[in-house]
Parts: sequence; structure tokens; C-alpha cells
Amino acid sequence: MARVLVVGAGLTGGACAALLRGAALGRIAVWDKARGAGGRMSTSRSARDAACTADLGAQYITLETERAGPRRSFYDELLSHGILKPLTAPVEGMVVKEGSCNYMAPQGISSVVKYYLKQSGADVFYEQLVTCISLRDGKWEVSRKMGPPEQFDIVILTIPVPQILQLQGDIVNKSPEIGPSVVVHTTVTFGSEHLDSDPAEVQQLILSHLERIVPSLPKPASIKCQKWRYSQVTKAVPNCLGQMILHTQPLLICGGDGFTHSNFDGCIDSALSLAEAVKSHL
Ligand SMILES: Cc1cc2nc3c(=O)[nH]c(=O)nc-3n(C[C@H](O)[C@H](O)[C@H](O)COP(=O)(O)OP(=O)(O)OC[C@H]3O[C@@H](n4cnc5c(N)ncnc54)[C@H](O)[C@@H]3O)c2cc1C
Repeated sequence: MARVLVVGAGLTGGACAALLRGAALGRIAVWDKARGAGGRMSTSRSARDAACTADLGAQYITLETERAGPRRSFYDELLSHGILKPLTAPVEGMVVKEGSCNYMAPQGISSVVKYYLKQSGADVFYEQLVTCISLRDGKWEVSRKMGPPEQFDIVILTIPVPQILQLQGDIVNKSPEIGPSVVVHTTVTFGSEHLDSDPAEVQQLILSHLERIVPSLPKPASIKCQKWRYSQVTKAVPNCLGQMILHTQPLLICGGDGFTHSNFDGCIDSALSLAEAVKSHL
């Protein structure tokens, strides 16, 4: 039975592992460098009160009814389990396209990814930063920052493309006590201009601007300034329909929104395409 490693416990990795459940494979392992699941669909908890949460990356998911195709069942499943709920809160300036529905995750957007990881039955390990992937005796030897390297028959990379390129080796209940959370997203231009600036200075710039535009905002109990170095994909890898095979024997394949587009649908398309390619390789 082939031993499979999925690198990345974000939406693509989680959905792909779930799709591979039941395929003629051995146990599937998922490794992520972070301390929890979600990737860019992460939910942060206040250090003062874990019940106070904020989604720092993706905020809501948009179903385009006419273009949903095979993805429709993913929405239906998440809705039937209460993981997604229709987004009913008014969003200032939001343009809702005809035929589309927006959904949010009441338990935090990372609950979507956690749902798929649970469905997959995979062994999920966090704080596993993959640094190097090398061919050894017909298998992939995967090295991480901490712990010994391990060998796999199939490796599926679902990490952002710039992070794939950094790899070394042979690849070139609400209580009144809980206050609301406020998430401030900057523009892409601001983000790019301040990518390498001192985070404390950037945080102060954002806070000063926020105070000017919403002077009545109460002083926050805690603040977290999150920098997304690899945010949304502006130019996907061309002509590869959701995945790219880097090596066939043994199989090394990569996917993620860098091979489609940066939203729920892009990740599901990539996960479907990855699972299909892995199954036809068996
Ligand atoms: C600010 C922001 C707002 C967004 N808003 C929306 C929205 O409203 N709606 C929507 O549908 N989409 C939105 N998106 C896009 C959406 O979040 C992404 O398309 C999606 O989460 C990508 O999922 P992924 O699994 O492909 O990648 P990721 O979520 O990036 O997952 C990759 C995982 O790999 C891990 N990793 C990386 N390198 C290594 C390594 N070397 N070793 C081990 N692990 C590693 C990371 O820790 C991460 O958990 C937004 C994104 C951002 C950043």
C-alpha cells in the first residue's frame, strides 16, 4: 500500500486528503508547519478569551450557483453539517452578484478545513516545517526542520507556490463578556509596500488610520497584526488545470490555489484534480 504525505493542512490539503479516503492507498499523513489547521483559512483566538475569535484570512465563501458543477455537493455537505451558514449580516459596500450566495462559518472559517481533515481520517501533524524533498531508493525522503526524515511513495504539496519554490532537494456561545472582533484588511498595494517593514510600525500606521475613520471604536483588549506574505494568487501557473506533476516515479505532485484561483472553488478544483491524478497513477 502506498504511503502518502500531504504537505499543508489548508483547504486544498484537507479536501484532497478527504477525497483520497477509500482509494487504494495506505495511511495518509498530513504535515503542516503551523500550530493548527486552516492555512489562509485560519481562525485566531484571543489570548484573553478563547471564545473570542476572528477569521484572519478568508472571511466568507461564495457559491456561484450556475458555475458550481461538481463543487455544489461540497457546499451542500458543509451546509447540512452546520459548518457553513448563509451570510446574513449586512456588509457595507458589498456587491452580491445575481445567482451567487455568500456563506460564513459560525465556528470560524478554519472549521471548514478541520471538517475535511476529520473526514479524511488522515494522521495530521503540526509544527512540521518541510524543508527538503529528495529521491531515495525509489521513494521520496521528506525532511523537516525538527525530527528525522521520513519516506513516502507519494507526496502531495498544497503549500503556496513561492513556498514550494523554497523547498530544497530534488525538485527544482456568545456571552456578553465576549467582545466583538474587528478585522482590518489593508489594500494589496499597502501590503506589498510594507511587506518587509517593522510589524510594530505597520500596526501603528493601520491603527492610526482606523482611529481617523472610526473614531468611536473602543480601545481593543488585544491586537494581532497578521502579515500574509503569500496572500491571494494574482497569476496562476498557466495550462495545468489544478495540479502539476513534477515527477512520476515515485509521484511528486503539487496543487493549491496557485494552480487555479484564490477562493474556495479554486481549492476544491485543485483538490479534485490532485485526487484524480493520484488515483489514475495507482
Ligand atoms: C487576507 C485573505 C482574504 C481572503 N478572503 C477570501 C474569501 O473571503 N473567500 C475565499 O473563498 N477565499 C479567500 N481567500 C483565499 C483563500 O484563503 C485561499 O485561496 C485558500 O485558503 C488557499 O488554501 P490552500 O490550502 O491552497 O493554501 P493555504 O491555506 O496557504 O495552506 C497551505 C498550508 O501549507 C502550510 N505550509 C506552507 N509551507 C509549508 C512547509 N514548508 N512545510 C509544511 N507546511 C507548510 C501552511 O502553514 C498552510 O497551512 C483569502 C486569502 C487571504 C490571504
